[in-house]
Amino acid sequence: MTRKPMVGGNWKMNLDHAACQELAADVDRGRALLEGPCDIVFFPPHPYLRSVASHRGGCMLGAQDVSGHEAGAHTGDVSASMLVDCGCQMALVGHSERRHGHGETSREVAAKAAAALNAGLRVLLCVGETSEERAEGKTAEIVCGQFVESLTGIDFDALERIDLAYEPVWAIGTGQTASPEQAQEVHELLRAEVGSRYDARSAARMRILYGGSVTPSNAAELMACSDIDGALVGGASLEAGPFLEIVRAAART
Ligand code: PEP
Repeated sequence: MTRKPMVGGNWKMNLDHAACQELAADVDRGRALLEGPCDIVFFPPHPYLRSVASHRGGCMLGAQDVSGHEAGAHTGDVSASMLVDCGCQMALVGHSERRHGHGETSREVAAKAAAALNAGLRVLLCVGETSEERAEGKTAEIVCGQFVESLTGIDFDALERIDLAYEPVWAIGTGQTASPEQAQEVHELLRAEVGSRYDARSAARMRILYGGSVTPSNAAELMACSDIDGALVGGASLEAGPFLEIVRAAART
């Protein structure tokens, strides 16, 4: 089964209103020149979602986080229906900067995923191990455990609106990318986990992106791996040129 690749730009807490609009428009112009199909999704800071919605062209818009609650007294939270209202098609959940920086548990991630799916959004679920967990040989246990727990209670029917991102914590923002072999190994085991939890068709269909210091110079060899279906990009997504080079590498596969 061929899977359409996807490349996401996680802009984190960077840029401003004008820079977000310019970046979205520049990337969208570059999209027209791709050699093959590839979904592109922007994850701007929440205050700029609407600004990017009007400049995204054929690219998708996603939120970096979403509340697990529907509405009410949750100061600072942003609900899934508000994100839909702002023009989002997707929400990122379980990013390591939320899991580790804000102490989010997989249970909380599952509530966020459920809220996003219920509102009609797609979900990009991130999983990944720390360097200590890798050194202790716990990579498979951690990433599969996060995958299973973060989707607790999610209907089988919703699975086609979920994409995964394998993001080793030690590779995010460090310049230390996983080798293609290391990444492929984990992607393969995550795909096998989807197969054993759900079914073979879902496993074959599931898009699994790699994230962690992806740059124009390492994108092609990562994207060439059979179970890597695109990239989630932080630092290299803040300028259109390098980001588009990564998108081109994904689109060629
Ligand atoms: C990320 O934040 O999801 C990420 C992969 O960041 P970077 O590309 O900067 O490592």
